[in-house]
Amino acid sequence: MSAQAESAERDTRFFGQPLGLATLFTTEFWERFSYYGMKAILLFYMYYETTKGGLAIPQATAAALVSIYGALIYMSQVVGGWIADRVLGNQRAVLTGGVIIMLGHITLSIPFGGQPALYVALLLIILGTGLLKTNVSKVVGDLYDERDQRRDAGFSIFYIGINAGAFLAPLVVGAVYGATNFHVGFVCAAVGMAIGLVTYFFTRRLLGDRSAKPSAPLNSDNLGSVLRNLGIGLCVLVILVAAAGFFHLLTVDTLVNAVSVLSILLPISYFTVMLRSPRTTAVEKSRLRAYIPLFITAVVFWLIEEQGSVVLAIFADKRTDLHVGGITLQPAFFQSINPLWVIVLAPIFAWAWTKLGDRQPSTPRKFAYGVAFAGLSYLLLTLPGLLYGTSAKVSPFWLIGSFFIVIVGEMLVSPVGLSATTKLAPAAFASQTMGLWFLSDAAAQGISAQIVGFYSASTEVAYFAIVGVCAILVGVVLYFLTPWIARHMEGVR
Ligand code: GLU
Ligand code: ASP
Repeated sequence: MSAQAESAERDTRFFGQPLGLATLFTTEFWERFSYYGMKAILLFYMYYETTKGGLAIPQATAAALVSIYGALIYMSQVVGGWIADRVLGNQRAVLTGGVIIMLGHITLSIPFGGQPALYVALLLIILGTGLLKTNVSKVVGDLYDERDQRRDAGFSIFYIGINAGAFLAPLVVGAVYGATNFHVGFVCAAVGMAIGLVTYFFTRRLLGDRSAKPSAPLNSDNLGSVLRNLGIGLCVLVILVAAAGFFHLLTVDTLVNAVSVLSILLPISYFTVMLRSPRTTAVEKSRLRAYIPLFITAVVFWLIEEQGSVVLAIFADKRTDLHVGGITLQPAFFQSINPLWVIVLAPIFAWAWTKLGDRQPSTPRKFAYGVAFAGLSYLLLTLPGLLYGTSAKVSPFWLIGSFFIVIVGEMLVSPVGLSATTKLAPAAFASQTMGLWFLSDAAAQGISAQIVGFYSASTEVAYFAIVGVCAILVGVVLYFLTPWIARHMEGVR
């Protein structure tokens, strides 16, 4: 055992885990605080009238834009992973990403910035998050020696950190927005990221040196070809944008459609490359084939889960009675319910899996139940419209209940999926597995961008019913595919 691994194993200063986990926990807590805090008011900022401080973007367009923003946040993980592997190393990528994210939130804080500031800010946050999110999770993994049994528990603690940030942020940012305006709300997000950065900067020496350097740095041999490919890529992009401009296609719709298509093409090309690569063994190819239906199911799951901050945010704003016991709730507060349920349920599920041991359902079965729960969470939301009509305001308990059901599903998909990805991806592509998993969320939001525009009070019941039933059907198909998948997983459960 290396000296470093030995010292890490002896380090139990953070709830039995290495103290470096505290650094990463805090950094990711504040990064997610800034991300979900900003996102809790972003949609409203886009579609509220100018008299209410908003940008008066049509609601359907705003919903599609928030979805492609989410898609790009997770697509950029691939780029961030690459930059860390080849140039910066994971630890410096986290720091750089945090600074760029903070600049993004500061840009949004500027009053009267209007739509130009919005687009610049979103771009900065996408780039920054690309650098930060996969890499910070990679550094978590690198705290442990390969045989260190504490790794899964470490990730569970980290996941609680993510959701603790996601829980606190909408409450703080929502309340500050309610008392002031959108821009002061965005300042909170910037301050959150700043706190995360300062903590990271002063405690990053606890992270060891496993992820300090790029794992496959660019050198004089490959720099030329990389620069050439980058140059070609840039030229193609410039030509495409110029052509779009020439044909008067430089519109928000084109942007939305382009991101949707890319979000689907990206995972397809990933799978194709991995399946064709001579570095992938026969057993790995079989596992990869088994992984594909799981990936597709994850896409359908995230499609509903991520609509929590789009479709359900509109439901909170327009269809929910916000006056409860003499106080007026902010619609943004409802974004805290999802992470709250995660914090409540994650320990219960972790306990149940240990208790059940070998008797627990297999990964494909968990996924099948998970996506079915997501579908049920939408079917529940057909009821208020059916019972009271879609012009009345309904009790907040409908949303609270729907979020509960989807999070039961999240417990069966998110942690399970991440661990299945690491086990089923070919070894030669191991450093990209985290990015691959995030691509399921990216594709989900890319597809979502195409459908969220159909949601409105008049289509509400049909919308929830159709999307809900489709998700349940995907669960049923996966349930029956389980024996085939299990066989192709070649020993992985
Ligand atoms: N909601 C979680 C987060 O923000 C998970 C996202 C995912 O795994 O796609 O980190
Ligand atoms: N549950 C999401 C994730 O695990 C958080 C959210 O959507 O608020 O972080």
